[in-house]
Amino acid sequence: MSSAHQTEVGPLERPDLRARYRIERDKRVRPDGTDQYLEPVGRFAHFSADPYTPWVERDPVVDDVEVVIIGGGFAGLVTGARLVEAGVTDVRIVEAGGGLGGVWYWNRYPGAMCDTAAMVYLPLLEETGRVPSAKYVEAPEILAHARGIAEKYGLNDGALCSTVVRELVWDEDRSRWRVRTDRGDELRARFVTLGTGPLNRPKLPGIAGIDAFEGRCFHTSRWEYDYTGGDSSGAPMTGLADKRVGIIGTGATAVQCIPRLARDAGSLTVFQRTPSSVDVRANQPIDPEWFAALDPGWQREWLRNFATLQTGGFAEQDLVMDGWTDMAVRIRDRVIADAVAFTPKDFRQAYEAADDEKMDEIRARIDAVVSDPATAEALKPWYRQRCKRPCFHDEYLDAFNRPTVRLVDTDGRGVERIDATGAWVGGQHYELDCLILASGFEFGTPYERRSGFDPVGRGGVPLSKAWADGMVTLHGIHVHGFPNLFVIQTGHAANLISNVTHNLVEAGTTAAAVIAHARATGAVEVETSAAAQEAWVDLLEDPTTMLTYDANCTPGYYNNEGAPLGHRERLNQSRYAAGPAEYFRYIDAWRSTGRFEGLEFRPQTGKDEH
Ligand code: NDP
Repeated sequence: MSSAHQTEVGPLERPDLRARYRIERDKRVRPDGTDQYLEPVGRFAHFSADPYTPWVERDPVVDDVEVVIIGGGFAGLVTGARLVEAGVTDVRIVEAGGGLGGVWYWNRYPGAMCDTAAMVYLPLLEETGRVPSAKYVEAPEILAHARGIAEKYGLNDGALCSTVVRELVWDEDRSRWRVRTDRGDELRARFVTLGTGPLNRPKLPGIAGIDAFEGRCFHTSRWEYDYTGGDSSGAPMTGLADKRVGIIGTGATAVQCIPRLARDAGSLTVFQRTPSSVDVRANQPIDPEWFAALDPGWQREWLRNFATLQTGGFAEQDLVMDGWTDMAVRIRDRVIADAVAFTPKDFRQAYEAADDEKMDEIRARIDAVVSDPATAEALKPWYRQRCKRPCFHDEYLDAFNRPTVRLVDTDGRGVERIDATGAWVGGQHYELDCLILASGFEFGTPYERRSGFDPVGRGGVPLSKAWADGMVTLHGIHVHGFPNLFVIQTGHAANLISNVTHNLVEAGTTAAAVIAHARATGAVEVETSAAAQEAWVDLLEDPTTMLTYDANCTPGYYNNEGAPLGHRERLNQSRYAAGPAEYFRYIDAWRSTGRFEGLEFRPQTGKDEH
């Protein structure tokens, strides 16, 4: 269907499609941009409370450790694992959740799973010996894997959960970090790693009257199974059988939980502002015998293969073979087939052609699955696949064929108002017993706002000041003025968003190697030089290579809600110009030399008494 169409009508000769994309985008751009969302504080604080683990009083902990790991998600766990492998076992995790697991501790909504293939998403598979059950695995299996890493490397020992860091201050006299928590803990640490996540803080839709609703209302990352019944492994939510349930949002989270809600709720009303692009998932079990026969080092190879194919590179075969690589390979092959001179214009044209083809397929699939033509039409996404987070699911569209499921398309405007008994859209009131907010997580807000503390480095300079004009780092990990601090995240590095854990494993491995080197050489401080940091930031800021965003993209967190990107936002979202695969190669080589160029290792000065 679509490729024939493409041959007849070139990508730049599809003015109707371009115009439609523009109209749909313009409808959604709001003057309040990212400010439209509410923070889960004050009277909304309960939206971020932990429903899974009761808060238990405990005595404050006062001690001195080699490494404090802030954040017990995959960032913290893989860093901890690499430290232990390097012989650094005096580590203590501090974690806000009632247990370790990070995003997978919090996100237990029904149907939660990872739509990046388990073979590359689950970190340290070879090290832990875990065999994923399927190509894409569900949240409980991922949480079990996270816990398995903690278990294997002894990271539960001394972990302080249900504990929020409130202060992180560099003590220059002792060359140590001082960590204070909301439990009154006073920790001192030679090194600190930050793995607090980019999408860790729930955001709430700024809809008038949101706190007037008198039924049950919660965010998807704080699922109230005590009310809905069921559990995260798929048991029926019997508590919803006679309930009128509404859900606000149709992003990646909603796409996964709507089929389960559709199955169990008395009725389900889906309030849609922008439809997601939902491609085929095609999950399948993993054969344990096939898995057992993989050669040692296989995961590294798979990771390299996935990152390479995602970035327009070549490999003998596509090992993962999914929606992520499919799109990237299509673009690559079209550039080769269509490009005349490989100019940016040629590339753009080829990219648009490949994207048109993919989006035509996605829209056609909706017509093929959804029986009501008006609902099918409303579910169609009118933007480029990479404007918003691509989704992959095989039951989502079909959920709208159930008589108990109703799609309320708000034509890009969102829910108008909420009152005690339900929600208003287009002057119509929808009565609800339960309202679920699948409204996502803060992205790009200041670090201290998302983490709850503002690290204070050398000379009493807070990170918020050091990053006031945008994030500055060496390799996305080290920050000048913040000795012995390691940021374990994706930015300024590979920024491979289709496989976040690959970024985290590399950053964690790097941090552990640097810490081990400092210890082996008797250094008590390690810090990036100002010059090395500046050179790295210059590289990221090169206008010929900096990531640019499609001005015609419909708004969302990928593009600053459609508002123009200032220098700060561009810098915060920048990545190594040559792309993820090259960054991974670069950082591996940088680490492996053992020279750690750009870092200054400082020996004991005599002031370090503890
Ligand atoms: P998103 O930010 O992607 O989606 C939020 C949804 O809420 C959007 O549909 C948004 O509409 C809607 N919304 C916000 N305000 C309103 C309003 N006032 N009225 C109506 N609708 C509104 O959050 P998600 O939790 O879905 O996903 C966040 C991220 O988490 C993903 O991008 C992905 O990175 C990650 N994730 C990963 C998964 C995986 O498989 N690996 C699974 C799930 C999530 P609009 O689009 O118009 O803004």
